[in-house]
Amino acid sequence: MKFRKPLNMLEGEKRQNKALEKAVEEDKNFVVCESCKKRLKTEELNKNWFVCSYCGNHFRIGARDRIFRLADVSSFCEMFDDLRSFNILGFEGYDKKLASARESGEEEAVITGVGSINGNKTAIFAMEPNFMMGSMGSTVGERITRLFEYAIKERLPVVGFSVSGGARMQEGILSLMQMAKTSGAVKKHSLEGLFFLSILTNPTTGGVTASFASLGDIIIAEPGALIGFAGPRVIEQTIRKKLPVGFQRAEFIIQKGFIDAIVERTQQKEFISELLKMHSDKKQTAAGKAVKETVKEKPKETLNETVITPKDETKEYVVAVLEQPERITANALVARPASPKARTKSKLAGARNTDRPASGTKAQQLTKEAISREITKEAVVNGSNGSN
Ligand SMILES: [Zn+2]
Repeated sequence: MKFRKPLNMLEGEKRQNKALEKAVEEDKNFVVCESCKKRLKTEELNKNWFVCSYCGNHFRIGARDRIFRLADVSSFCEMFDDLRSFNILGFEGYDKKLASARESGEEEAVITGVGSINGNKTAIFAMEPNFMMGSMGSTVGERITRLFEYAIKERLPVVGFSVSGGARMQEGILSLMQMAKTSGAVKKHSLEGLFFLSILTNPTTGGVTASFASLGDIIIAEPGALIGFAGPRVIEQTIRKKLPVGFQRAEFIIQKGFIDAIVERTQQKEFISELLKMHSDKKQTAAGKAVKETVKEKPKETLNETVITPKDETKEYVVAVLEQPERITANALVARPASPKARTKSKLAGARNTDRPASGTKAQQLTKEAISREITKEAVVNGSNGSN
């Protein structure tokens, strides 16, 4: 008997999307709705923001298309698009994956910039489902962090659309670190009294749900969106119980208080602009006007003095970018009164770091040094000298 791995929800959708693509290929004028199986005119679907007029199914749309529909005409200006991912850890097959993801026409899994929505100036990010399912690598984290830092500086609200399969495993711990980095930036933005509206689309999972996507002052979701951390299959296997119908869907989690509202895509522009109007910052209104006049031209200034250009794409440089002194550090995050358990842990970490000889490429060593520096610092904070 052949054993077949059951498909999880995300894989199922991927398969459906392929069927959809095939249908489009066969007849470009019609698309079959993956939910109600009705044939829809592509043109009408496009007019209806890619929402099925029969069953309300929200088709997946790309980040650029989403921003184009949402932002006022020619108001959006992309920023930080000079930051690109590359295979920093030398992970097998990652280069190939990146190359095929770039066939989508996007360079990264998130688009960041500034624009206005019904005249309300705002920082905007939208994640790209066609680029490695919106997975969060160090560039995604860096673009989002820089956007929040820019928003703090310009006293702008942030409107962010999430769609993600989670952290990008090909970047190992560097991708996990983005959770802390982005969360730190969101917190700073919040402490400034600025508004962050998080919009969760189908699917928002893993490290993205577990960081910035869940940190909005108001969190809304699109109908039917799958929102969670681990997939339902993993949860079922862990708790050995059947999960309820509709588990992790927007309509289910709103009853648990996880999100504030479910808003259909066609209603989003009005809904978002109303919220922006309500929560606009007085100081921002003056500054916002000034930015509005220059918005057609791409803002050259970024918070960091140096900008990564393709030429600068050295591994050493990226490591340096990841370690910006003004950002919240892992050390600060773990700084807390030492418990006996934490002391033992950091002693072990310290011992591992001194015993093991350094290996790998120069960049890997640099990364290792950076990590071991953090761990050593943590050990000091927790009351151990880290060398045991
Ligand atoms: Zn339908």
